This record gives sequence, C-alpha cells and structure tokens, in this order.
Amino acid sequence: MSTTLITGIGELVTNDPARAEGGGLLGLVHDAAVVVEGSRVAWIGRAVDAPAADVQVDAGGRAVVPGFVDSHSHLVFAGDRSAEFEARMTGEPYTAGGIRTTVAATRAATDEQLTSHVARLVAEMRAQGTTSVEIKSGYGLSVHDEARSLAVARQFTDDTTFLGAHVVPAGTTPEDYVDLVTGPMLAAAAPHARWIDVFCEDGAFDVDQARTILATGSDSGLRGRLHANQLTYGGGVRLACELGLVAVDHCTFLSDDDVSALASSGTIATLLPGVEFSTRQPYPDARRLLDAGVRIALASDCNPGSCFTSSMALCIALAVREMRMSPAEALHAATAMGAAALDRDDVGVLAPGKVADLVLLDAPSHVHLAYRPGVPLVAGVWQSGRPVVAR
Ligand SMILES: [Zn+2]
Repeated sequence: MSTTLITGIGELVTNDPARAEGGGLLGLVHDAAVVVEGSRVAWIGRAVDAPAADVQVDAGGRAVVPGFVDSHSHLVFAGDRSAEFEARMTGEPYTAGGIRTTVAATRAATDEQLTSHVARLVAEMRAQGTTSVEIKSGYGLSVHDEARSLAVARQFTDDTTFLGAHVVPAGTTPEDYVDLVTGPMLAAAAPHARWIDVFCEDGAFDVDQARTILATGSDSGLRGRLHANQLTYGGGVRLACELGLVAVDHCTFLSDDDVSALASSGTIATLLPGVEFSTRQPYPDARRLLDAGVRIALASDCNPGSCFTSSMALCIALAVREMRMSPAEALHAATAMGAAALDRDDVGVLAPGKVADLVLLDAPSHVHLAYRPGVPLVAGVWQSGRPVVAR
C-alpha cells in the first residue's frame, strides 16, 4: 500500500484524548508530521522523528486539522428559496411552512437532477474541508419521493436519515400523515437509511407524534435523532434525553430542566448557528450548555430554506463570535463531536488507525478559522487518504 508523509506541519490538531496532556482539548502537536497508508493514518508525531514514505508533502509550517464532520444537512432537494430569504431579511418572520415550496420542486425533479445537485453540494462542502456528512430526506413527503431521496443520499454517505416527519404535506391530516410515515413510508425508506429524525416543533410534529415515529423507526432498525426546541420551548429535547438518543439538534430555546436532562443523559446537543444567522433569530447559549457539562456538536444544517450555507468554517466563526465558544471548543465540536453525534469513532480524530481525513489550512493555526471569517483558508483536503482538493 502506498504511503504519504505530510511533514512541516506547524500545528497539527489531532483531537486525540491520548495527547490531551500538553496538547489540550485538541491534542495539538507542533512541528508535526503524519504518515498516511492507504485510507488510514499510520503514524503521527514530531516531524524530526517521521519515517520515510513513498510520497512526501511539505505543509510549509501551516496548520492541519481533521476533516470537518457535518452531522446535520438536508442536501436532497430542488428549487431555490432566495426570494423567501429576501422577504425574511426585509421583515417577514420565518415559518416552517416554507418547506412545502421545496417539496413541490423536489417531487418534480428527476432522480438524475437530484443526484447531480447533491453531488455539487457535496463537492462544495469538500472544497471547504468537510469530509464526512450526514444527509436527510424530508422534501419528498410521499412514499416514493422519500425512498428515492434516501437512495440518492446513499450514493454519497452511509449516514442517511429518514425525515419523512419534516412537515405535514398539504392535502392530508396530521393523523393520517403519521400513519403513512410509520407505515408504508418507513418500510420503503428503511433499506436506504441509518437514522430516523422528526421535526418536533409547533407547526410540525408534537412530542407524542415524535415518540411514536421514533419508536416505529427503532423497530425497523433505524436509530433516532431529533430536531427540537428550534423556534419555541417544548418537550423535544427532554424526549431525546429520555430515549437516550445520540444527538438532539437545534437546542435554541432551552429551560433549566432541558439543560439538566442533556447534561445527565449524555445526549449531544448539536447547535446549528447558521440557522440563527440566516433567520435572524437568537443564537443558542453554548456557554450555558458547556458550563453545565453538556456535550456540543456544530453542524451546518445546509438546506434551501432556513440556512443555505455549506461552510463549517462559518459555523465555527459564529460559534466563537456569537455563542462564546473558544476557538478550540468550536473546532472540536465541528470535528470530533460531529463524529460522536453520528456515533462514529473512525473520523473526527487523527490517530493511527483512524480514517485519513485531513485539511491543510492556509494559516499557521486553527484559530484562524474563527479569526478570519469568510476567508477561504482550505489549501488542501485528503479524504480517506486521497488528495481531493489542492490549491
Ligand atoms: Zn435540519
């Protein structure tokens, strides 16, 4: 198997707990090198100690970080909602009903159109350093369109999520629609999905409906996740904690009981600050959660309605500037914790045996991700050991 030595790394972020002593939360190694063998990391250490390899790349003193793990996205869709965004920015409030606009466009698109659109977005993410992504359905809302959305998503990731319970489509009652989601739609979707998700919110699905949908999904072998407490206070976060879900996403409006439940359950709170940025809503209070011992991941929530960014670097910058996370906490949340939110231990960390997903930054330190918002700092990406981006 061919080996590559990436040397001259001024600052290497490993996220390896074994390197926490001296390296802090990010397991930093300075003047470092990494050897990649095939798709995996084979060796990490000081550059002066590095073994020889077939190919050598000099990072020139720049920083290398693990590839971003974006644990929450909605990439399977068609159409454009820039007009809705423009309206919102000129004073109209966001409501969940906007999803129906995308549903009509997605149903009208061919499989080929959906696939090429997802491919374009995944490439856009990769160019910005995202090497692992979760992709949800949720713009089909019929048996046929949910199943084909997931089949499209499966071409790009194993972390596919059935989100038939995104919103109740026009022309049906909530009761009938929950029956459909938990019956024929689940049966058609389950072969293409690893996860099941529910938008638990006023205007979407309530806690009882979410509980029913997650339970039937679990019976079909799908693991649960939840959109909760995005727009209002409610019982979604506590349901996720009660059920022991690996992650609950949004967590913008939290009571003290919600925070306690998150801290004691270990359920990861995935914060999606691009949504608050794009909807002009208050940001979740990351500092309150971290101080309470809650584990936090950051993800893009890339979707055509409430947040059409694919940039994890933007999410990091927002988390630092607006949510009072430290640059190290934010990067850790966008990599190692994103992986944890997908219950994966092979990505998000750079250590021997882990998947060789690495990002070379055109910067001396990971701090530049937040320090230089909006600047394209990704100079190179290796995905499963292969160079996929170089500039
Ligand atoms: Zn979402």
